Amino acid sequence: MRRKMAAGNWKMNGLQSNLAELKALAQEFGNADCDILICPPATLIHSAASTTADAVDIGGQDCHQSETGAHTGDISAQMLKDAGATHVILGHSERREDHDESDHDVRHKAVAAIHAGLKTVICCGETLEEREANNTLDIIGGQLAGSIPDTVTGENLIVAYEPIWAIGTGKVPTLDQIGEVHDFIRARLERRFGEGVGRSTRILYGGSVKPGNAADIFGVSNVDGALVGGASLKAEDFGQIITAL
Ligand code: 13P
Repeated sequence: MRRKMAAGNWKMNGLQSNLAELKALAQEFGNADCDILICPPATLIHSAASTTADAVDIGGQDCHQSETGAHTGDISAQMLKDAGATHVILGHSERREDHDESDHDVRHKAVAAIHAGLKTVICCGETLEEREANNTLDIIGGQLAGSIPDTVTGENLIVAYEPIWAIGTGKVPTLDQIGEVHDFIRARLERRFGEGVGRSTRILYGGSVKPGNAADIFGVSNVDGALVGGASLKAEDFGQIITAL
């Protein structure tokens, strides 16, 4: 049985002053029967991890593929781990777009993250044009094949399906559309990694998840939780999403 997960991606939002709310969230939901992950900006990882103790997992939003070196402004997986992170989001569409990250880059980052002992949340998702051209499953299949390294296990891999057109827009695919993609991802994972890894890997949905639609989305087959952007910034909204799991 896969353990449900509520993950919050704060993106480039959050200051030290937001940690009090995070602490309250950890106190209220720390014993919930699901995994809770918050990925704040890198500047907050250490203090967030200290604040929440083990009640909430803390993750990074990206890492470099090398352990150390002359890469100004970058952060290695080992550094995230050292700061207290247990997870890292990789291949988010905003990284793919803003920083030209390819599937090949994401795969190398994932290898580095796993080597450092982090769990990876590897993102995939289609644009609106790709969906309208009926190419969604081809795009997702290509991203999974290219971005996920061969060495993953059901423990260190979490896949997040985030249709790009649903991120921050208030638009959400139909439940059938979400189910189709999640079933497809599950089948691809089972085919490539075998039933053990394929069935134990969590698949999260992301894109305009809110308290009002979370329960319906969590009712879809092969949806094991959510990767939440905007609604993870307010503890009250995120708490309602956790409760809907
Ligand atoms: P929103 O929940 O704000 O649509 O963002 C989703 C997302 O990109 C999470 O990684």
